[in-house]
Amino acid sequence: MTGSTPAGHESGALDGNALAGLFVDVFGLDLTAAAATCGTCTSTFRVAELAVFTRAPGPVVRCPRCDSPLMVFLERRGIACVDLSGLALLEPAGT
Ligand SMILES: [Zn+2]
Repeated sequence: MTGSTPAGHESGALDGNALAGLFVDVFGLDLTAAAATCGTCTSTFRVAELAVFTRAPGPVVRCPRCDSPLMVFLERRGIACVDLSGLALLEPAGT
C-alpha cells in the first residue's frame, strides 16, 4: 500500500462530457451541449453538467438536484441503447 489515490476515480462519478463518444454511437451526434429537463423536478441542466455514474451495467446519468435517473445506457447484443424515460425534454443546442 502506497496511500496514493488516483484523483477523481473514487466515487465513479464523471460529468456529462464523458458521454460524448457514447452519444455519437447512439444518436449520431454529440449531445453534451444539449439542455436536459428532469421529468421529476423539472430542473433544466446542460448535459455536460450532469453527474454520470459508471458502476451499473452501463453509464447512468442522474439529476444533480433530485438524483433521479435521467438517462440509462445499456448494451444489448453489441448495440448501444439508451432509456430516456426520466427526461421531460432533451433539446439539442443551436436549434
Ligand atoms: Zn430532478
